[in-house]
Amino acid sequence: MKTLIKNGEVLLSEDGKLVVKRGDVVIDGTIIQEVRVREIAVGEDSDNVGATKENDDVGFDKVIDATGTLVMPGLINAHTHAYMSLFRNYADDMELFDWLDKVDAIEDQMTGEDCYWTTMLSIVEMIKTGTTCFVDMYIRPSVDGVKTGPKGSVAGAVNDSGMRAYLGRGVVGEDGDESSLRRLNEFLMDYELHKGSDRIKFILAPHAPYTCEQSMLKLVRDTGVKNDLMAMIHISESDSEMKVIAEKYDGMTPVEYVAKSGLFDLPTIAAHLVKATDEDIKLLKEKNVSVAINPRSNMKLGNGFAPVQKFIDAGLNVCLGTDGSGSNNTQNMFQEMQFASLVYKGSERQAKCVDAREVVKFATLGGAKALGMDGKLGVIKEGALADIILLDLNVPEFVPRNDIVSAFCYSANGSEVKTMLINGDVVMEDRKITKFDEEEVYEECNKIANRLGMEK
Ligand SMILES: [Zn+2]
Repeated sequence: MKTLIKNGEVLLSEDGKLVVKRGDVVIDGTIIQEVRVREIAVGEDSDNVGATKENDDVGFDKVIDATGTLVMPGLINAHTHAYMSLFRNYADDMELFDWLDKVDAIEDQMTGEDCYWTTMLSIVEMIKTGTTCFVDMYIRPSVDGVKTGPKGSVAGAVNDSGMRAYLGRGVVGEDGDESSLRRLNEFLMDYELHKGSDRIKFILAPHAPYTCEQSMLKLVRDTGVKNDLMAMIHISESDSEMKVIAEKYDGMTPVEYVAKSGLFDLPTIAAHLVKATDEDIKLLKEKNVSVAINPRSNMKLGNGFAPVQKFIDAGLNVCLGTDGSGSNNTQNMFQEMQFASLVYKGSERQAKCVDAREVVKFATLGGAKALGMDGKLGVIKEGALADIILLDLNVPEFVPRNDIVSAFCYSANGSEVKTMLINGDVVMEDRKITKFDEEEVYEECNKIANRLGMEK
């Protein structure tokens, strides 16, 4: 399948800088084969420059006219729990540990099939707001004794929707504990089951320092080394976590606690890090850990703000995640980008802090780097995977076009995303999802919330 996206304003990364140039993107199968940039000469009418000639369309199976749109890499949501869309507006205005108690009681009743539909709900929101890849911590594996089959799991939802994802079944407890080992084995079963997929990948997901003993973190590390896998873990999310770990482990910070286990020997994404100390940041840099910041979730749970400017200054790779919809309450990366920039400017009292280009990099290049997919995801260039979004520029948010990247971060809201390709495949065209019936997803999710007695 050969696809031509022609005559768009293409967001490119040139020597680490984000620039927008008129051009075409040629896709062969799942890969970007060529980016044809049309330089605008002095005195030329920029609106007419680069218009692809009709005969350039010959030889393509599909031609997408991108005139008047921004063509850019899809966004990467580097930390979420997609099944948690069920908890949207269910446990609001609560402290973290009270929130966990309320959510856990319902989670325990969710079947694999429930998680399929609620993950689909998050995927609808992601597709409609520009996210082409997400990194997920989930609770029900494909084979869970409750429901098996394609509609029985998170991986099934990713498969059916055309989405790209890195999935990790959450792991807690200690080595030797029966239920903890069951969770890790469920992860390994899922991993084996979907090994052949080019869109579904797996990532080890020990939940957090306060739910994982050292022996479990060590076991996860060994499993990762053996199977060449990455890890994702929540760390230093709240004051309560800092206190619990310091009391239990002789004054250690959660970062020190996790480092001691050897987990950071695996390529790791650490989510949150709201309370990271200067020493923690040094340690994270030494271990080459990527940091997934989640500003909206952190604010909503009253946990504060991660020291993002310090992460940047220390040279850490920063990426951006929404966290689950129980604590955000959306999977919209546009809202996350705006908060990421505005919150840190406000809290640091510096307008230059975390600028628009930096934030767009968090959501694209940073996510790709965290996943070891540098040059393959989060970028439009020859040889990269064709995960691409087209945004309508003929909307007030993008007029006048003083600075498209700034507008993307500060003015857009996600509704401008018209068309999306993942792995070279069109998953949304002119706002219409192509792979599944979104109305059915809403119906099924409402039924689940009713069955579990969640509505107030
Ligand atoms: Zn999380």
